[in-house]
Amino acid sequence: MQIEDIDLTGKRVLVRVDFNVPLSDDYKILDDTRIARALPTLEYLKSNNASIILMSHLGRPQKKLKDDGSVNKVKFTLRHIVDHLSTVLNTEVFFTESPFGEDALKKSLELKGGQVLLLENTRFHLQEAKGDLEFASRLAALGDVYINDAFGTAHRAHASTTTIAQFFPIHRKAFGFLLRSEIENADRLMLSPKRPLTAIIGGAKVSDKIQLLNRLIEKVDNILIGGGMAYTFIKAQGGSIGKSLCEDEFLELSKEILIKAKANNVTIYLPADSVVNSDFKDTEGKVVNSDSIAENDMALDIGPEAIDSFRKVILKSACILWNGPLGVFEFKHYSKGTFSTAESVALATKNGAYSLIGGGDSVSAINQSNLTDAVSHISTGGGAMLEYLEGKSLPGIQAILEN
Ligand code: AMP
Repeated sequence: MQIEDIDLTGKRVLVRVDFNVPLSDDYKILDDTRIARALPTLEYLKSNNASIILMSHLGRPQKKLKDDGSVNKVKFTLRHIVDHLSTVLNTEVFFTESPFGEDALKKSLELKGGQVLLLENTRFHLQEAKGDLEFASRLAALGDVYINDAFGTAHRAHASTTTIAQFFPIHRKAFGFLLRSEIENADRLMLSPKRPLTAIIGGAKVSDKIQLLNRLIEKVDNILIGGGMAYTFIKAQGGSIGKSLCEDEFLELSKEILIKAKANNVTIYLPADSVVNSDFKDTEGKVVNSDSIAENDMALDIGPEAIDSFRKVILKSACILWNGPLGVFEFKHYSKGTFSTAESVALATKNGAYSLIGGGDSVSAINQSNLTDAVSHISTGGGAMLEYLEGKSLPGIQAILEN
């Protein structure tokens, strides 16, 4: 069922959003992207006169218990975002100390059309992450309709993201606009891309990206590999990589990927040169060939030749997927590979290519370069987008589609 097909007027609409925003030490919102991206759904519900009940998690309170073993309700309360939410929605936001129970139920029933109630952090309760049925049924009691707009947690089979959906018949549950657009954008790239389709894959570890690479070599024309993971591939080809990141247990798999890619006519580009340092620190490095790195050096970024050859491939692409930084971009001296690639992707997009930035650090690089509006789609879900692109079925998505 699509959200537009559900009669929402006067209904209590329970929405799972992802308001897990970064907060400063004094609990100010550092980046409100996740709230901003949920607004189209919330505005739509408001304009349809629905009573809006919002559920979210904030942080990992069960993993960061206080010394006495209890949940830190001061640090992880969603109360921190009430004022901001109220400002951006231009309406009072009511709050309830528990995401279930008498007070929550009473407030949900008293809510008038267009009003908003925010429930306390669902992860204060261990049952959330366990996908507990009883807990999910208590949450479900607060709504007549269930909307899931939390793409960032769609890969988790939690009570508020997945289990809860079984308490709503198919005609009373749907994706919100954000979650739907995440699926549509990922499908556009993986199911019906314009060609050439190029994937830029970086990040620290090959092990995190093996499944993605295996899927990509069945779909794409080019793969540009950078970041720490590139050096396992370079070693697998016989290169000397010094102290660069390497996962020796993945050397064979890396070789297999290179062979499979060739068989599928997929061109894999590894960085021809790298910027190296003798230590993992933010001091000036030197440029060397990536396959002849001295024993005492480690590669912390791709080099100028690699940046240039990657740019040429990116500019010839009609569709681009980018996941993971190409170097230690948190260090000023090793951020050039990542930021130059952000510029190349933006330029290709300006020239007509479609670009999807697949979450996590590559999103942060695009935002830091002020190129947020210069790419086609920025995903709000790092892990969720990765799993979706790997071809996995995400429990939060499946639960909406099943009766
Ligand atoms: P991931 O979480 O796997 O996407 O990896 C992101 C992290 O990889 C970032 O914190 C980068 O600093 C790190 N990274 C990227 N390139 C390298 C490199 N050549 N050596 C060490 N770490 C790297």
